[in-house]
Amino acid sequence: MQCPYCGGTDSSVIDSRPGDEGVRRRRRCLACGARFTTYERVQSHNIFVVKKDGRREEFNRDKLSSGIRKACEKRPLPIGIIDKLIDSIETELYHSGKVEMSSTIIGDLVMQELEKLDHIAYIRFASVYREFADIGVLKQVVDSLAEEEKSTPVSNQLPLLPSHVVNHLVGHKRK
Ligand SMILES: [Zn+2]
Repeated sequence: MQCPYCGGTDSSVIDSRPGDEGVRRRRRCLACGARFTTYERVQSHNIFVVKKDGRREEFNRDKLSSGIRKACEKRPLPIGIIDKLIDSIETELYHSGKVEMSSTIIGDLVMQELEKLDHIAYIRFASVYREFADIGVLKQVVDSLAEEEKSTPVSNQLPLLPSHVVNHLVGHKRK
């Protein structure tokens, strides 16, 4: 989504509501701060989410968004990145061409994205969504993430230490 004022490509969504001309979004440009409105017609059809108990309900971006935001609460994530993540999941859903989508698939999609973004948010989302049966399963997940962080310390995860310290510890430069 390009800013009409400065051409910047990063914006955050301030407000989003369905309308006759598609989804109306108020956006704020992260580069120049200008506000502008977009009408997005990603969906050529409605998608229905099939829940675990078999009930169907229309896909609702706000619902998806609130679950993800809750998981990301107070995490040091760059402004706008959550909107981007939600945009990309929404796009992926509509591009699948499916009319129905199980809530499990959507949840897995979110988990995939959160795992790349922030492990704490991932664990929070997973603990709500997967309803971990016991603390043992949760511990396994946490352990495997910790293992992964150890083996790939220069991934896209937000560094816990400043990058020059990480570089020193790891012994090579981040890109
Ligand atoms: Zn701008």
